[in-house]
Amino acid sequence: MATPHRALRTPTAPAPRPPFPSLVPPSGTDEPRPAAAAVLDELLAGNARSTGGLPRQPYVRPTGRRPCAVVIGCVDAPVPPELVLDQPLGELLCVRTAGLVLDEAVLGSVQYGVQELGAPLVLVLGHERCAAVAATLERLRTGAPVPGHLELLVEEIAPAARRTRNRPGDWAEHTLRAQTTWVRDAIRADPAFGAARVVAARADAGTGLVSLLP
Ligand SMILES: [Zn+2]
Repeated sequence: MATPHRALRTPTAPAPRPPFPSLVPPSGTDEPRPAAAAVLDELLAGNARSTGGLPRQPYVRPTGRRPCAVVIGCVDAPVPPELVLDQPLGELLCVRTAGLVLDEAVLGSVQYGVQELGAPLVLVLGHERCAAVAATLERLRTGAPVPGHLELLVEEIAPAARRTRNRPGDWAEHTLRAQTTWVRDAIRADPAFGAARVVAARADAGTGLVSLLP
């Protein structure tokens, strides 16, 4: 007989756990925040370390220190943003949804990072060979229905796919770039994020190399 799921056979309440580090009030609210340009330079330098075979990972940032950047990434990105950008675990506030699809929960999380934690940079990080983009293109090619909650993802990525459908070249790559820059522009246009610099980038699926998008 199959072993029951652990959660279904726990006889007593679990022991209390310490609070999640990023929800601990910052120990130094007067901590000077780095400039967005310096943060972006460090993230790209970290990507060079990561893809060059000389990462400093893994290590953990000091408790109480605030994240230096918010990263909006995809759930099926080949590697977590902390690894591809070679940053200490906890240094980045990462919000990951399939295909970078935005909803109010995502926007609220980004706003928390920018306004409450003072992150000076928001990096919207799409990636090559995205499964959510592929599912969207398949839907547009075939018209086949998408099950359940996945429909929302396809609906949100479809505008980027439709805008780029007739361009020569790789439709998936065009869609990835259009979706990533659309999310960047939506964040930029929202006054809730006015304090932060917002940039878009793509990660190469094979090497993890991150390139800024115009
Ligand atoms: Zn993806």
